[in-house]
Amino acid sequence: MKFSAPSVLAVAALSSSSSHAFAPSHRSSSTKSIILMSSTEAVTTEEPSSKKTTKKEKRLQYMKSPSFYRQGFKDVRPSVEKSMEAQFKSPLVDELKSSNFVIEKEGVTVHLAKDFGFCWGVERSIALAYEAVEHFPGKTVHITNELIHNPEVNDRLHEMNVQFIEKLGEGKKNFDKVGEGDVVILPAFGASFEEMSLLNSKNVDVVDTTCPWVSKVWNTVDNHQRKGLTSVIHGKYGHEETVATTSFCEDYICVKDMKEAEMVADYIVNGGDKEAFLKYFEKAVSKGFDPDTKLQKVGLANQTTMYKKETRAIGQLMQKAIIKKFGPVKAQEHYYEFDTICDATQERQDAIHELVEKSDELGLDFILVVGGWDSSNTAHLLEIPQKAGIRSFHINKADCIGADNTITHRTIKGEIVTEKFLENMDKVVLGVTSGASTPDKAVQDSLSQIFLLKAAHGGKGE
Ligand code: SF4
Repeated sequence: MKFSAPSVLAVAALSSSSSHAFAPSHRSSSTKSIILMSSTEAVTTEEPSSKKTTKKEKRLQYMKSPSFYRQGFKDVRPSVEKSMEAQFKSPLVDELKSSNFVIEKEGVTVHLAKDFGFCWGVERSIALAYEAVEHFPGKTVHITNELIHNPEVNDRLHEMNVQFIEKLGEGKKNFDKVGEGDVVILPAFGASFEEMSLLNSKNVDVVDTTCPWVSKVWNTVDNHQRKGLTSVIHGKYGHEETVATTSFCEDYICVKDMKEAEMVADYIVNGGDKEAFLKYFEKAVSKGFDPDTKLQKVGLANQTTMYKKETRAIGQLMQKAIIKKFGPVKAQEHYYEFDTICDATQERQDAIHELVEKSDELGLDFILVVGGWDSSNTAHLLEIPQKAGIRSFHINKADCIGADNTITHRTIKGEIVTEKFLENMDKVVLGVTSGASTPDKAVQDSLSQIFLLKAAHGGKGE
């Protein structure tokens, strides 16, 4: 399918928000519409309903193209492996791992969480992106978004001259600069259906680094659509991964936390003020969403980086609401749940739980969480010690720790604040972990800052 060079793409999840909330359901339409918005006009491509193929079928068609790459490039693998090792590896973190996750240096005792840092999906994504740049020398390489939420990795891609597709706000992006013969990388959290369609229409090589766990969620929402279910997605509607996931849905509602899930569960059981409900969820629902009909049959999915205990609790809540509404026998026709919680997310959350539980025994002064400020999985790691009342900080890089004994960190409310850091210079005991998109080197650099700070302000504590 070819389009006539539209330059600006409106991401479906965001464009299907408030202004369309009361429009007739798009499923009742006899035509299939893919809408690509330019800043001045909308280009609509229509197919008769008899030829209508599902979004999943179309996605699979795009992926079968000879210019769509998902397996990387063996010719450049050895050199990419070397450069990744040089950029990300940390002798200090290796030392921590080999000494039962605890070391003492410069009067600072460090306890490392048992699971932390780069997950398989992120390492794979970086390797594929770096391989793409080396495999296509001389070609212009673009990326549709940050590869992962980590400043060092994205800086490295800038240094490699990878062009980041311009964001225009409200979910729109400018693909003008993508020319024939260019290479376009899709990031670890995937690209929306509309973006994949647009790229398929251009004569470009696409390197897909989407994590297979994210694709698993897409397959789950596809199952929902085939069964006529509305996908209840535990995720943030504006997060890139959820934007991509919702783009593969016909009917969905995103709930970011338990409070919003309770609102949905309550509507399932008791109904309510439809207008108020839609106003609250105006940016988080599919086009033409009618809660009176669309919440009769639901399936659960999630953004892979959400807090897994909350996803489980939301699943139980939905199940209970459906049983209350339809009775235990009929409930199975109205609710489906597939486990889409990523192992890596779960393991890192379990490991910081363990640190929190042993906090008194270990005598932790605080817990340091290292990872990009935009990284959802890192932000959720911070919530665990915060909820337990443990002093804890989320920093995105080592220079958040100042030589004047201050720390600049992101709170769970998303504010960036600076405050006095080490309170007792005689003895410092800390726990540390890092998000799934954080290289070990970032942990090493952050700990090195603390060692320097302690040495400069408090001697060696001996
Ligand atoms: S956290 Fe999970 S879903 Fe996200 S990139 Fe890593 S393995 Fe994939």
